Amino acid sequence: MSSNKGSKLRFNFGFLLEAITGTSRTMELDYPSILLEDDVTLTPLKGSFQAIRNSKGIYITGGLHSNVGAECARCLDPVHLAITIQLDELFYYPPQSTPPGEFSVGEDGFLDLAPLVRQLSLLEIPMQPFCRSDCKGICAECGQNLNEATCDCEIDTIDPRLASLRSLLDN
Ligand SMILES: [Zn+2]
Ligand SMILES: [Zn+2]
Repeated sequence: MSSNKGSKLRFNFGFLLEAITGTSRTMELDYPSILLEDDVTLTPLKGSFQAIRNSKGIYITGGLHSNVGAECARCLDPVHLAITIQLDELFYYPPQSTPPGEFSVGEDGFLDLAPLVRQLSLLEIPMQPFCRSDCKGICAECGQNLNEATCDCEIDTIDPRLASLRSLLDN
């Protein structure tokens, strides 16, 4: 994976690469808001992780907390979802020793957490987020947000199987 010099989640772990196996460093993160790879914004991004030198590279372990913006699947209102990002990943070093699909520490000793944090945060977003568990959604007829007001539309809620029966009877 390529190293992105613009990333705010790049850390210089050159000192750790030179240290003996088992050496670790704890890092605290506290960003009011951070943009990852131009498409995921985490507001805020807080937490801490440990970077541990091992024989294969640098092992990253820890937990980060954030919020992500999404759209309610029923009423389309913006929702903010609290997410926890569990870090548990080996970054290989030297980069040439990295198996396909795995992360690596750059030749320059910099480790970029942005691609991993982005991937993990996307996994935390449910397929169908709701603004609240009892969200009433929007009226299919007039588009009224039914959480805010009711409308006078009469929705034909007849079961489609019954509908075909009814058309038989009508004939
Ligand atoms: Zn909703
Ligand atoms: Zn309506």
